[in-house]
Amino acid sequence: MTDISTDTALLAHAIEAAREGRATGGIPIGAALVVDGEVLAVGFNKRVQRDSPILHGETDCLANAGRLPASVYARATMVTTLSPCDMCTGAILLYGIPRVIIGENRTFYGGEDYLRERGVEVTVVDSEECVELMTEFIAAEPELWNEDIGEE
Ligand SMILES: [Zn+2]
Repeated sequence: MTDISTDTALLAHAIEAAREGRATGGIPIGAALVVDGEVLAVGFNKRVQRDSPILHGETDCLANAGRLPASVYARATMVTTLSPCDMCTGAILLYGIPRVIIGENRTFYGGEDYLRERGVEVTVVDSEECVELMTEFIAAEPELWNEDIGEE
């Protein structure tokens, strides 16, 4: 279940979504919702593209997956390129998603301790590719990044 090669393979879907986000002028954070080994939906941060303060990688992914019964969330893994912010941490807890795979938490450390405290299994891949995506973006657009994390 916690096979690192599987985690890396799943993370690739989130990274692809993050790259699409960056390529379309947005913030390079992507996510994938995986159920029973299948990618049910992907999503990426759409702050710029949709002028949205709530479509982060994870929440966009959940929206793209549509309405699902609790029994499906209970078997799901949320894969995200970046440590989830407080809003996305809340969404993961709200829907009872039991496992989260995080690409990296070096450029931003979100609610992962709280997720663990609440019984969620959290795996941090520490992907160089994810770190590079964020490092490049934060250097290029610091104001946009601060807006996304609610800072001046
Ligand atoms: Zn978020």
